[in-house]
Amino acid sequence: MVSPVLTLEETMTLLTPVAGPRDSLPAEIEVAIIGAGPAGLTAANLLGQLGVKVALIERNARTSDLPRAIAVDDEYMRLLDRLGLGPELDGHISKPFGVHFSSPLGFALVAVPGFITPNGFGNRNAVSQPMFEKILLKGAQRFAHVHSRFGASVTDIAQDKDGVTITLAEEAGQPQTIRTRYVLACDGARSFVRQHLGIPFEGASLDQPHLVVDLAEVPDQAGFSRFICNPRRPLNAVLGPYGGRRLEFMLLPGDNHATIASDESIRALVDRHTPYKGMPLKIIRRAIYGLAERLAARLQDGRIFLLGDAAHIMPPFGAQGMNTGARDGANLCWKIAAVLAGRLPSTALATYEIERREHIRQTIDYSVHIGKLANIRFWPLALLRDAFFALVNLSPAVRRYFAEMRHLPKPVIKDGLLLHDSGIDNSPVGRLLPRWLLRAPDGHPANIDAEIAMQWALIGVNLPRDALEKFTTSVPWMQLSPRLISISASLEYGYDFEFDRSRASELFDALRGHILILRPDNVVAGVALAKDFAAMSDALAIKLYAQAGL
Ligand SMILES: Cc1cc2nc3c(=O)[nH]c(=O)nc-3n(C[C@H](O)[C@H](O)[C@H](O)COP(=O)(O)OP(=O)(O)OC[C@H]3O[C@@H](n4cnc5c(N)ncnc54)[C@H](O)[C@@H]3O)c2cc1C
Repeated sequence: MVSPVLTLEETMTLLTPVAGPRDSLPAEIEVAIIGAGPAGLTAANLLGQLGVKVALIERNARTSDLPRAIAVDDEYMRLLDRLGLGPELDGHISKPFGVHFSSPLGFALVAVPGFITPNGFGNRNAVSQPMFEKILLKGAQRFAHVHSRFGASVTDIAQDKDGVTITLAEEAGQPQTIRTRYVLACDGARSFVRQHLGIPFEGASLDQPHLVVDLAEVPDQAGFSRFICNPRRPLNAVLGPYGGRRLEFMLLPGDNHATIASDESIRALVDRHTPYKGMPLKIIRRAIYGLAERLAARLQDGRIFLLGDAAHIMPPFGAQGMNTGARDGANLCWKIAAVLAGRLPSTALATYEIERREHIRQTIDYSVHIGKLANIRFWPLALLRDAFFALVNLSPAVRRYFAEMRHLPKPVIKDGLLLHDSGIDNSPVGRLLPRWLLRAPDGHPANIDAEIAMQWALIGVNLPRDALEKFTTSVPWMQLSPRLISISASLEYGYDFEFDRSRASELFDALRGHILILRPDNVVAGVALAKDFAAMSDALAIKLYAQAGL
């Protein structure tokens, strides 16, 4: 169910922060997560689901109240669904929404509609970060082995060859130390851990501070965000949940930051620069943000890993900061769980950096470029931009390119715990397998994610189950105990599922006769025809075990 339309008072009540849990922390733990923002909370859910003993440590006593992320992408939605949080999100997420960039001359430069992607969810889905964090926290609390301590700051961290010792301090009381095998530093842009380790945060601040105003009860419920690319005052009116909208005004050199966020000033900004002149203003929250683009020089230091804003920050124009932090957790957590369980060597953890870095870099660059295009302040340049887009939009292929968001860099892993040598055109290796819909022999609907349940999987595409079973006695599959799933084009004896063709089926058709190896994060790790599978499996085993450090 999409979020209902609420009044200002109802919205404020819903978004009120809650006191975080103050569990007592065991002296020894498997993973310590520092910081309970979206990155830390998502990692806590992932590790909780994988049975890892976690200490989640958060400096603030309550959940956050800051008006920050609003757009959750399809990939994050899919991850939340795999984490079983779909029902909790019910009623707090908008319908999928698009984004329109409009010229001051009145026409659309780029128009992206809301649509369902191969991940099975909307390309953008609006949520309020304070509510989102409460939902994620509730999710983490489902697991008895995830211990959460709010109101405690990590003040020291020291690692040796066997583990890491963390010191945490509370306002009252003695400092406590805990011992952990691994640390996930999810402690935000000013990360204590990153600074303590002396890891440079490379990049720059951007000269584009923004005033962010969250509004309730906004009559404009068009299913897209409006980037109003007017050099006089560039702004974005982002669709929000609960019938609200967020206004992000670019601040200009003459603006007085001390007064620009007053009620009177916001009124004047809305009347002068937005299509909402005279609209009653029901302000939920307001804040001014300075923007930056930065990436940590290293994402790993021994047993310590940087995730989320501790590792990278980007301007919000591409709506990717929080989504990128979720991808970090999705890539790393299953590897840590596998190492702790003795199923992968610890050297496999080095692939976190190798697999994530390039896509993070691309996503930062994408976000910076969107900001540069939308926030042009020099009229001749803005008119040149508009003329360029007017021209290229004459081509249906270009319009389709933008409408399908093909300009957004896709997470494609080029090197790491996978084997690219598939010999297939448009190989799915290194990409997420689409969220295939299936039908069980009794006619019940199913989907690939639910069947895989965050395990390794061997998927026979139009290959019966017994064609898969014979491979499971060989390394590495004995150790990784994969799920076996055989899918047929039309259901017949010897198969687990029939492929549901109500979604795109080109990939399924191209893979007929192949066996896919899927990692617990849904990334395709290898693909081969059944006759070549043993050789491919052996080559992958070398990557997993012998060269995992790469
Ligand atoms: C205006 C705006 C709009 C945005 N819109 C979007 C969007 O639409 N989509 C999107 O994907 N992203 C968006 N973002 C980015 C998103 O908000 C951030 O990327 C996200 O909050 C980062 O999450 P995090 O968990 O890494 O860090 P944070 O949310 O900063 O959490 C870090 C946590 O660590 C805690 N902490 C810090 N130090 C310590 C310590 N020593 N000990 C214990 N705890 C500590 C902090 O208290 C904090 O709770 C937006 C950001 C802004 C500013």
